[in-house]
Amino acid sequence: MRSLCVVIATALSLWRVAADQPPIVSAHDAGVRYESATYECQAGHRVEKRSATLDSGTTRYTFGYSGCADPSHGDSRPSAEGNLGMPAPTAANWYWGGFLRVLINDVDAVSYRVEDWRVIETGARGTVQIVFAHPDAELGVRLMMLPGANHVLADFRWRPRPGATIKSVAVELRCYPSFFTAARHRNGDRHCGTPRTDAPQDQTLQLVPGADTYLYYYDTVFDPAKGEGDGPCAALVAPDGLTGGRVVVGSYAVITTLDYRPDAGAARLGFYDFSGSTNAAADEYLKTHGAEDLGELVALDSRPLTVRDLNVEKLREEAGRLLTDAGEDGQPYQDRVNDLLARATALKAEVDAGDWRAEADLGAEIEASADLFWKLRAFAVLNNPGG
Ligand SMILES: [Zn+2]
Repeated sequence: MRSLCVVIATALSLWRVAADQPPIVSAHDAGVRYESATYECQAGHRVEKRSATLDSGTTRYTFGYSGCADPSHGDSRPSAEGNLGMPAPTAANWYWGGFLRVLINDVDAVSYRVEDWRVIETGARGTVQIVFAHPDAELGVRLMMLPGANHVLADFRWRPRPGATIKSVAVELRCYPSFFTAARHRNGDRHCGTPRTDAPQDQTLQLVPGADTYLYYYDTVFDPAKGEGDGPCAALVAPDGLTGGRVVVGSYAVITTLDYRPDAGAARLGFYDFSGSTNAAADEYLKTHGAEDLGELVALDSRPLTVRDLNVEKLREEAGRLLTDAGEDGQPYQDRVNDLLARATALKAEVDAGDWRAEADLGAEIEASADLFWKLRAFAVLNNPGG
């Protein structure tokens, strides 16, 4: 009885310490569901739908996935409006139906089967990991928010499948700045501004890697300052691996294409939805904070913090010491500790070989073991108070 009380008291005090930690980012996966196709594909087909939300405490972004899973499509997942959209903060801006395509050897990886979709971090940071089953490559995307952030950081990673060659990689982004003009029979005045230049509607802006580090998409007609539209949006573009690109500033959709060196294996972007902001406020934000946000994006380590900080040998030593100090109270936990250490060792080898799914599995194992270690620490203190 006494030991149970100590365990509870210790766990509560540790929980209170955790609860005092300041800013929390929440990442939520709403799970998978299947619906009969309406607009996405032909009648009678079954469409896979998913969504995930990141909330930095100040701004909330939702990502919606849709792909027809009819067996006739094989690993392909057609969906008429696109596969990965951003329905919130607003349906306009980064398009709710599909704002992102990643063309590997000219074929969109995002339109292939989802191999992995899960929250890999929530709390100090929030991260959703998605892996797509392109026939020539494994494409991973991590969408992350930091506490208090107004934008999403995206880490892309591609690896060729055994025997396949990646000859080209391009990321294509679709936005409807502030308002769905043509669909609502209105005329706007779109622009894409960068730190270097500004391109008006009906022009194509050729991007200069390293200079056009943010792309600011706005509409001078649909500006909340004039009581019109939702407000603008923007992208951050990290220059690593980028060879060029262009923004086709249409009167309706604005399409951005970013070309990457296939052997770079990685790309980093940021996404802002400034809905609710005036154009002037968003412009001022990017001029003031764009460089700082870019620095954060470039320096980002998207591995789950539990994995980044993990040293399996130190974990083994700590577990051994706690089991010794816990004495008889620790014995019932010996097998769980051994299982954990065996799984962590095996996963760590896959992580070191660059496997994102193993990284996520390892992060989950370590998080799930927190409760086990709290109990062992409490028993160790109880049985070895001076230790
Ligand atoms: Zn279909």
